[in-house]
Amino acid sequence: LKARVRAEMKAARPSADLPQVMATPVSQMLQARLASFDPESEDAEAENAFYVADLGEVYRQHLRWKALLPRIEPFFAMKCNPDPMVMRLLASLGAGFDCASKNEIQSVLDIGVDPSRIIYANPCKQNSFVKYAYNNNVRMMTFDNAEELYKIKRFHPEAQLVLRILTDDSKSLCKLGLKFGAPLDTTAGLLALAQELQLDVIGVSFHVGSGCFDANAFGEAVIRARRVFDQARDYGFDFKFLDVGGGFPSAHVTEGITFEKVAGILGPTVNSLFGPDVRVIAEPGRYFVGSAFTLATQVIARRTVSTDVLAAAAAAGELDQTPSHMYYINDGMYGSFNCIMFDHQVCEPKVLLHNGVYAYETDSAVDESGVASVWGPTCDSIDLISSKAVLPLMETGDWMYFENMGAYTITAASQFNGFRKSEILYTTTEEDVLFHF
Ligand code: PLP
Repeated sequence: LKARVRAEMKAARPSADLPQVMATPVSQMLQARLASFDPESEDAEAENAFYVADLGEVYRQHLRWKALLPRIEPFFAMKCNPDPMVMRLLASLGAGFDCASKNEIQSVLDIGVDPSRIIYANPCKQNSFVKYAYNNNVRMMTFDNAEELYKIKRFHPEAQLVLRILTDDSKSLCKLGLKFGAPLDTTAGLLALAQELQLDVIGVSFHVGSGCFDANAFGEAVIRARRVFDQARDYGFDFKFLDVGGGFPSAHVTEGITFEKVAGILGPTVNSLFGPDVRVIAEPGRYFVGSAFTLATQVIARRTVSTDVLAAAAAAGELDQTPSHMYYINDGMYGSFNCIMFDHQVCEPKVLLHNGVYAYETDSAVDESGVASVWGPTCDSIDLISSKAVLPLMETGDWMYFENMGAYTITAASQFNGFRKSEILYTTTEEDVLFHF
């Protein structure tokens, strides 16, 4: 595999096109970028919010995966963060890719990845995208309904089909079962139809839901998949493929679930129910990138809540709910912080630059006048990032940072109200990463 991956990457885009990566600590990267910031200057570039992406963190997550789930091949769910550097690093480390659309497939093929390392893991696909997969030799794809089988018969009769089954996603933040997954009382009918249409169904996939907080959900889903493997024999199929989906926790998530816990249940359950002749893949998204991106934002405006409002709140016993200050920063809900709405993320601001003093990872004295609220830059009042932030008294021109901003952030950011997406600076805290570019 290593030799094949090297050959593929050689044929891909030359490294000269890519931003230069150096092994610099995240803190230094942030500080260096802020050094170019002058609040008096008209230079919008230096004022804009920006990310520092630590590719070393992605690499450490890769090593952790290999150590704890050596049998399961990760196919990165690029919807989570289709960052070109992350994708290139993961491709060069031998990962596959889970794509949901033509454009996603195209961007993976463009970096030189072989089509056999792609799974088109969207059970409901547009006709022309299925044709695109056919024309580009992407064969693995998921389905969960009869109509999709007729579509695939028409546009990609040689596809290697993976039946996505419904599992219990009640222990997850994002419940994908509302939209996808064949209930087990429908799988027999789907397998019978696939047999009749002479389609090649190679195995089963599931997704326990994104942001899963119960490791047992993975074990229970594997047991369900086994039932469908057995059922498939009645319809002439000899399944040799299991896709255990996404839902793996990011490195910073510790409450209730850790990757160690998931691996401790998933690995042994897979091994006890599936022989070595079954290929097992997964579609982790947030696992690889969640903790790898830090976002730095500038306080572009501040509003002090009037003492009358505070006095009224105190009289109503609501003082601790009422912010004494409202800070407006230059990325928001319509940009990177869409994760608050779409991904149920809680984003905690920390002080980065305060009164000209660099404050990354230091404890700042909090504002004794009360909690503050933090808002994005647009003209919409939905653009609220934190209603109860504990911060020192900050000024316009100060900076805040937010950790763990790598998953489902920039990928769905819009440019609403003319605010552009925050740029990304790259570093690595693992020198080995440098050999991959
Ligand atoms: N696979 C599929 C089909 C998905 O829809 C998703 C996320 O929605 C993922 C994988 C990635 O999930 P996660 O980021 O929770 O690992």
